[in-house]
Amino acid sequence: MAKDPAHIRNIGILAHIDAGKTTLTERILFYSGSVHKAGDVDSGNTITDYLTQERERGITITSAAVTYRWKGHTVNLIDTPGHVDFTIEVERSLKVLDGAVAMFDGVAGVQPQSETVWRQAEKFKVPRLAFINKMDRAGADFEHAVATIDERLNGHCVPIQIPVGAAEDFTGIIDLVRMEYFVNDESDFGVDYRWEPIPASERTRAEQARSRMIEALADIDDDIAVKFLEGNDVNVAQIKAALRRACIERKFTLVMCGSAFKYRGVQPVMDAVIDYLPSPLDMPPVVGIDGKTIRRATIGDPFCALAFKLINDSYGQMTFIRVYSGRLSAGSFVYNSNTKQKERVARLVHVQADKRQNVDEISVGDIAAIIGLRNTLTGHTLCDESKPIQLEIMQFPDPVISIAIEPKRNADQEALALALRKIAAEDPSARLTRDEDTGQNILSGMGELHLEILVDRLKTEHHVEANIGKPQVAYRETITKTAEYDHTHDRQIGQVHQWARLKLRLEPLSRGQGFEFKNNVQDITIPKAFIESVEDGVRNAAEGGVLRAYPMVDLRVTLEKMWLHQSDSTDLAFTVAAHEAFRHAAHEAGPVLLEPVMEAEIITPNDYLGAVIGDLNARRGSIQKIEEQGTSQVITAIVPLSKMFGYSTTVRSATQGRGTFTMKFSHFEPAMP
Ligand code: GDP
Repeated sequence: MAKDPAHIRNIGILAHIDAGKTTLTERILFYSGSVHKAGDVDSGNTITDYLTQERERGITITSAAVTYRWKGHTVNLIDTPGHVDFTIEVERSLKVLDGAVAMFDGVAGVQPQSETVWRQAEKFKVPRLAFINKMDRAGADFEHAVATIDERLNGHCVPIQIPVGAAEDFTGIIDLVRMEYFVNDESDFGVDYRWEPIPASERTRAEQARSRMIEALADIDDDIAVKFLEGNDVNVAQIKAALRRACIERKFTLVMCGSAFKYRGVQPVMDAVIDYLPSPLDMPPVVGIDGKTIRRATIGDPFCALAFKLINDSYGQMTFIRVYSGRLSAGSFVYNSNTKQKERVARLVHVQADKRQNVDEISVGDIAAIIGLRNTLTGHTLCDESKPIQLEIMQFPDPVISIAIEPKRNADQEALALALRKIAAEDPSARLTRDEDTGQNILSGMGELHLEILVDRLKTEHHVEANIGKPQVAYRETITKTAEYDHTHDRQIGQVHQWARLKLRLEPLSRGQGFEFKNNVQDITIPKAFIESVEDGVRNAAEGGVLRAYPMVDLRVTLEKMWLHQSDSTDLAFTVAAHEAFRHAAHEAGPVLLEPVMEAEIITPNDYLGAVIGDLNARRGSIQKIEEQGTSQVITAIVPLSKMFGYSTTVRSATQGRGTFTMKFSHFEPAMP
């Protein structure tokens, strides 16, 4: 039977590294019974041992989505990476999830890295709950953390809980909706929680906080406003409904608190995910790239889903999809509107913490993995062949940094190539090429850390030992002026005579336009296949560059004229002629090298501002702006990538470990000679 989409939540946990995402995820899976039934808790060590193993195996990290059940609902928890090198990964998760829990450190509040994730969530209009974690740490301060979300992120915070005590004295949490006190004990891993009356000493504080919550709601909600003005009490159901609306419409950030590590406050977060975050039914219908085809979140609409992540493991290839409408059953066929092919759905699975559950059918709102698809890539749309739709393709920026990879032992050559192909297929922001001169595999990606992690997977998942070259900038080539070339290819190879003549015109395009091929030959006596051969030859030549073998971009190549020889013109002759003509023309068109230029954001305490700027200038950086943020300065600069290798170490030492930096690709610019 199809699941009621009202009982599904597709959520992510947004946090930068170290905020406690793994710990919170583990606790959630544990309480939901996905890891261990609560009843299994007899001896203390079982659970902790299990959790340690779980962490070591990194299940929550390598899986694109884990599914758990809570209070009659199915929750799909979608993985979102916490490091800025993975902005693309974060963005593709944000595309398929409906709501999120943003985690903050109870001591530091908003940290530089939390801002990046928050802004991405804003861009994708994702409703959020905030969870102030680590309330048990020395120096934890709930009000301060909330204030930083308001000030730095413009978060419009409305606490729906307040902590009792902090650090060592953090004893429990007051829920301002129920007006009850949440307590549990570390001794049984917080499994048996209780709602108790609010301690007398905390009553006044709790009532004040509750009034602030209701006043905030009254400001935006007419029903509540009327009751509030008339002095009538607002009941729990009404408050919950109003909070839900406010959260889904992103008017407020509802704030909660706790300590994932000390097993405190996790079940209320699980409740809040159900109570306040949107279900698939709360989401707008999806629209195809034609701007007309629409799919509503109902089982009655034709099937439509987006493939958002591929994962290859010992079970084979899993294609994770988000279903927007209709239903799909195991054993059936599905149509890929990007490849225009039908593929067989061998199996459908939900990934749970430590196992996969086969399901017969998935339907609207769900997230699951298909096993058995061969030609579906991240970003492809799967749908009903008779009612096709194509969703917007995810844009992945070109990788800007490369490394050469060689097997440690010659015998591993093939295993390495295979592993690299798998890794590149799973990750659309990575690219695999071959250096024709050296025969080395070249892996390109978005940043140093991105490549490091990919290389690490070679060892841990594919068990191949490899030698890794130094990271290199992935340059491009382009032309600076128009050139034409009329070329005749005339060659005798053995008994065969090859002849082809053609004229090409090359012209520069503006930055970011990529490569364009245009055909001006209208002569119907010329076979279409020959024109295609010319295009092949030109594209192939452009891919190899003319200066230093980097791909050529931002140019248009026009095929102006072609001449045929009755017997000696072949596909091959035209491919070769086009290749040669292109290279001649490109040499005359003022070729230049383009280098990737990055936008870097550095956050440094005031004291080190001068040192950081001086260093950026030495790297050919141009400072765009400097903004004050509390006691720190945020510098935005445009810097060539070639000058930024190892920069994180420099920032750390220049600021005595207190500065941080993030960087993303900005544009290509002619390289300095
Ligand atoms: P992730 O990088 O966001 O996945 O963070 P982890 O869950 O791995 O946590 C990072 C570190 O913070 C680990 O050492 C955790 O034990 C610790 N940690 C996580 N949650 C809490 C918490 O509530 N209180 C305290 N004191 N430490 C925590």
